Amino acid sequence: MMRWSQALLNTLREAPQDAEIISHKLMIRAGMLRKMGGGLYTYMPLGIRALRKVEAIVREEMEKAGAQETLFPILQPAELWKQSGRWETMGPGMFRLKDRKDAWYVLAPTAEEAFTALAKNEISSYRQLPCIIYQMQDKFRDEIRPRFGLIRGKEFLMKDAYSFDADEAGADISYRKMYDAYVRIFQRVGLQATPVEADTGDIGGNFSHEFMVFASSGEDGILNCEACGYAANQERAERVVAASPYAVEAGAFEMVATPEQHACEDVAKFLGVPQNQVVKSLVVLADQKPVMVLVPGDREVNLLKLRRVLGGAKIEEADEATVLSVAGPCGSIGPVGVELPVYADRALKEAADVIVGANKEGFHLRHVSLARDAKILAYEDLVIVAEHDACPKCGKPLAIRRGTEVGQCFKLGTKYSEAFGASYLDETGAPRIMTMGCYGIGVSRTLQAIVEQSNDENGIIWPAAVAPYQVGLLVLDPDNPDVVAKADALAEALEANGVDVFIDDRSERPGVKFKDADLIGFPIRVVAGAKGFAKGGFEVRRRTEKDSAIVPPEKMVETILSLLA
Ligand code: ATP
Ligand code: MG
Repeated sequence: MMRWSQALLNTLREAPQDAEIISHKLMIRAGMLRKMGGGLYTYMPLGIRALRKVEAIVREEMEKAGAQETLFPILQPAELWKQSGRWETMGPGMFRLKDRKDAWYVLAPTAEEAFTALAKNEISSYRQLPCIIYQMQDKFRDEIRPRFGLIRGKEFLMKDAYSFDADEAGADISYRKMYDAYVRIFQRVGLQATPVEADTGDIGGNFSHEFMVFASSGEDGILNCEACGYAANQERAERVVAASPYAVEAGAFEMVATPEQHACEDVAKFLGVPQNQVVKSLVVLADQKPVMVLVPGDREVNLLKLRRVLGGAKIEEADEATVLSVAGPCGSIGPVGVELPVYADRALKEAADVIVGANKEGFHLRHVSLARDAKILAYEDLVIVAEHDACPKCGKPLAIRRGTEVGQCFKLGTKYSEAFGASYLDETGAPRIMTMGCYGIGVSRTLQAIVEQSNDENGIIWPAAVAPYQVGLLVLDPDNPDVVAKADALAEALEANGVDVFIDDRSERPGVKFKDADLIGFPIRVVAGAKGFAKGGFEVRRRTEKDSAIVPPEKMVETILSLLA
């Protein structure tokens, strides 16, 4: 129970300038959060209560799934990160600092290294497997663009879990347990989060789901099939190729002048052919060696897919000098006559009458048959899937939606266990490497995502499970002893039944109290006033409803409990 007269709570009429999205605005206006600096927020008393409730649900579901809680230091020695190689690969997104003895440390952005090193030391026998451990701990990331309040912070609360199994089959079971726990967590906190197939990115590994909350402010693109429910991150989504749009027959290729035409679109217009008749060629460095990628001229290369095809190689941009030395001047390159490995998109498999760069400024080649005139190492899925492309599951057109990731499950394989030598002795006494998974939930991001999804023009609408207080009890006549006595008695009875009550006992006008209660978003609003009592009781209203009902005092606890059930 809390009384506003004693609470550190200030609601604001206006949102701060830098709050771009509704949830950020509402969290500040409702007095839940205050900004300390870019990407750094202080939880006010109401805000931390809601965060703790989300945390509690995450914890309960982790324990139910058999995961054990631990707590690791945030400040971690650089050596740990050097051992996995991520001291080099994490780049400027990782905060690094030195102690007084000049030893380097990291403010952990995630914790695969720390958990794997622990498992190496603590787990030695197959009898100790499977093992899932987790922590609820702040993480630090020097984000390029911290914004949207808790959605993208420099410091944020993450639940991170790691599974250790004897083999791939065991790892699949652990993955499933965590995946199922995630589904229950998001259900329980009242958030609609959709699992989508995702790429495994820098973390390494081979299989992943992201739990996405659809929102117009989302920074990720998700391809979604309304017909069959297929959903995949745009980075990951598979492109299915219908019948080849390319001619089967082509005479010998010839050089054609295309002065100052570089982009495929321009070359196509200039030569009067459809854009997909031109082949887009790109040279990139894969583990520092140049490779060429070909895609239809109307498509974009998906470098993450290329990376997967190349077994996880590090893909970097190639500078102009490198491109010139292995192919030709940028904007006029093509696969004919080059000596570097060339990978082509699957859609180009039968491309027999296409236009490619001639590796000579201002010239292209036409009537090129890739199979005949170029050396293609492999045809793979290498393009970014776009809206209206066919669903890989059912063939219906895909829609693109914006989303924010609230959680992610990864099958990691043995990348970290190998780097740290995390092995165990199997039944026969032979050493074997552990198979891992890792599972993150942005707990603070989840909190704000709930608000982003659940609000109206008057303010937040908290799902009861995570509301800072489930009942807002507005005392309209705080100077009337009878009203105050009835309100206090109700608050006590509710608290005794496990319901959190926030009492607005300020001497403010009723209108102000109503507005604030809606802004803060108590799932249930109870009004205690002389007028209502004259009509027979408290006025009770759900945050989602317009009209309130008069409920006699003796029926109140029962009524509230049934509304919350
Ligand atoms: P994003 O793509 O949104 O940057 P990520 O894929 O880099 O996220 P993970 O490394 O998978 O994030 O971290 C696990 C979870 O931590 C994410 O699902 C997300 O909910 C949360 N998270 C990541 N970065 C931030 C951040 N800067 N602020 C708040 N939460 C974050
Ligand atoms: Mg992620």
